[in-house]
Amino acid sequence: MANYPLCLRDQGKLLKQSKVLARFDFNVPLEKDTIKDTSRIDAALPTLSFLLESGVSTLTIMSHLGRPQGQVVKGLSLRSVGEYLAEKLSEEVIFVESCVRGGVEQLFSLAKTKVILLENLRFCSEEIANCPEFAKKLANYGDYYINDAFGCCHRKHASVYGINAFFPEKNFSGFLLDKEIKGLNQLLGRPPAPFIGVLGGAKVSDKIQIIQTLLLKVDKLLIGGGMAYPFLAARGVQVGKSLCSSRDRELAEKILLKDTLGKILLPVDHVAAENPEESPVLIESQEIPEHMMALDIGPQTLREYKKWVARGETLFWNGPLGFFENPAYGKGTLEMASFMASSRGYTVVGGGDSVRALRESGLTDHIGHVSSGGGAALEFISLGMELPGIRALKFGPKGA
Ligand code: AMP
Repeated sequence: MANYPLCLRDQGKLLKQSKVLARFDFNVPLEKDTIKDTSRIDAALPTLSFLLESGVSTLTIMSHLGRPQGQVVKGLSLRSVGEYLAEKLSEEVIFVESCVRGGVEQLFSLAKTKVILLENLRFCSEEIANCPEFAKKLANYGDYYINDAFGCCHRKHASVYGINAFFPEKNFSGFLLDKEIKGLNQLLGRPPAPFIGVLGGAKVSDKIQIIQTLLLKVDKLLIGGGMAYPFLAARGVQVGKSLCSSRDRELAEKILLKDTLGKILLPVDHVAAENPEESPVLIESQEIPEHMMALDIGPQTLREYKKWVARGETLFWNGPLGFFENPAYGKGTLEMASFMASSRGYTVVGGGDSVRALRESGLTDHIGHVSSGGGAALEFISLGMELPGIRALKFGPKGA
């Protein structure tokens, strides 16, 4: 489709014998030096393999990890990502300890050098500041630039945004980014109705923008998880010790005023406890006793939400419906995963925790599109192709 940035799929010949610089989202959970979940790296393997099979002369890989705030933080090094990549690609991966001071150019002159991984871009404050000089230094590492970091495309950072200025018509999307754009694009405009949104997670303030956008687009918005209690409180329902800051309650009040068509549905019963370590108690009313916190949606709510999901022609889900890390409070989230998977409509699930719940249920294959980027997927629904990293890939950073 004409509107999409060009994908590298048809560029194999062009890339042969060229220096390629590629941005991925390897923001993986690390414990000591062990990668706890490799799915973000695995999702990049098709692009990486394609580049190597195309016969590029060098492949320089960039990513960020965590939020080191422009400082070198040992626990946020990409070194172990390099080791995992070497194993998966069966290639030597040369790890460079600074993305701009590591003598990368000298490596290019060595006959054997093929794959280089730069250290965490966010160890340099210039990355987040979208500093043009920094982008230029990075751009020196490639004749061509590939963006496969969908999870970062809502940010105007140097390696996904400013850098495009140095690759006019020499920048392409990777396979993952291309898949994300095509999968999420089906939610834009006027997708088939009824469009059902499901939102969970911890805070209203984190997702205020998307709640407002979704409210305009969907026919029903099913709210669960920690997100639900500020809404209930705003409606005058007692929420006990459940997650509910005064700021979130105020935001919820404003949103409810805009919901003139009554699209928002809230839990009518709950699974609660005095604190998350205690055994769960079923609360069969919407009111939550003062000494208790609601940690999952109850069975009556689940039945109601299931009916809407079954009717949906287009569905979007982000955020767990309870404190699902503890299996005692995971039922709402896991059941929602199975409702989504059995829905006949076009389903999109985005956001780390909801995707994790889907994987745990082994149901990812039954979903229309599973998005790798939580925040980016949410912003895509508002902005579509105007997402900074996507637009810059097509028109350069100034056009965005
Ligand atoms: P988010 O990143 O906003 O999607 O929030 C995800 C987090 O919200 C997960 O760690 C969940 O355990 C947590 N969460 C969801 N529902 C609840 C709840 N009712 N009480 C406490 N935490 C919750």
